Amino acid sequence: TEKYDAGLKKSRQTFGEKINALFANFRTVDEAFFDDLEEMLIESDVGYETALKISDALREEVKLKNVKRTDEVSQVIVQKLVDIYGEAGEKEDNTLHYAEEGPTVFLFVGVNGAGKTTTVGKLAHRLQSQGKKVLLAAADTFRAGAIEQLQEWGKRDQVPVIASAAGSDPASVVYDAVEATIAQQADVLLVDTAGRLQNKVNLMKELEKIKRVIQKELPNAPQEVLLVLDATTGQNALSQAKQFNETTQVSGIVLTKLDGTAKGGIVLAIRNELHIPVKLVGLGEQMDDLQDFKPDEFVYGLFK
Ligand code: GDP
Repeated sequence: TEKYDAGLKKSRQTFGEKINALFANFRTVDEAFFDDLEEMLIESDVGYETALKISDALREEVKLKNVKRTDEVSQVIVQKLVDIYGEAGEKEDNTLHYAEEGPTVFLFVGVNGAGKTTTVGKLAHRLQSQGKKVLLAAADTFRAGAIEQLQEWGKRDQVPVIASAAGSDPASVVYDAVEATIAQQADVLLVDTAGRLQNKVNLMKELEKIKRVIQKELPNAPQEVLLVLDATTGQNALSQAKQFNETTQVSGIVLTKLDGTAKGGIVLAIRNELHIPVKLVGLGEQMDDLQDFKPDEFVYGLFK
């Protein structure tokens, strides 16, 4: 909760400022008020459709409760946002899934710079401190420096990293990593992959090949394919997610750099438009700044 409060500070401040301005401009809840509210929500990156949905729901609520003054509305807004999150589609499972028996494999995908390597490093630290035996696979053999960066995290976390030379076949790195995972009886293998979205066909082939290599030894793996998205890129993150989801089946989203954006509303857009559960959020650069995603805490942290 403290992490959420700190990490969402920017989003909350901006939203708070805007809402105060809105209340200063309007004394009564009329159409112009709702217009401005919609605009504000869209600016917070909740997405156009979601913004309309929220303001429609609010209109109804205002009618139902016979609210006339804007200051009575603010509580209704927050509650409505939490409700809308919960109501959007099927019940969401925000937890990470582990193998019931034998090793678990998580595959990390996403474009360069989204925070994949950092997320792998942070998660390794967390799993390690929970007493799990962790292994890392440096399968991003494409981005310059990605292998070294993962090796640094490995040193810091004291977790072995399976790697080969830059430019080598990612699937062969993954093959070695799976062998090592089984031989060392590790609990979790985290695979950092390259994210070349500009060439969808190649990316699709590469990811399929990686999956095949994993499934040869571990038929039920990977237990998660986690798409890492940079929250500061706003609506871009959303279209990236759509493209990745067409390339490979994504089981969950890691939303990073929420501490660096005033547009935390992107979470509501993901919920409403993608129906892929957010499972982890990055709220800073420290090792323990990777948090499980809890929708209620998040929305309250964003708008309270
Ligand atoms: P990759 O190319 O997807 O592997 O991206 P990196 O893991 O190298 O991350 C790119 C940059 O984002 C690095 O400078 C990270 O320190 C930074 N970063 C990653 N996650 C977070 C986060 O949650 N908050 C902040 N403030 N920075 C982050």
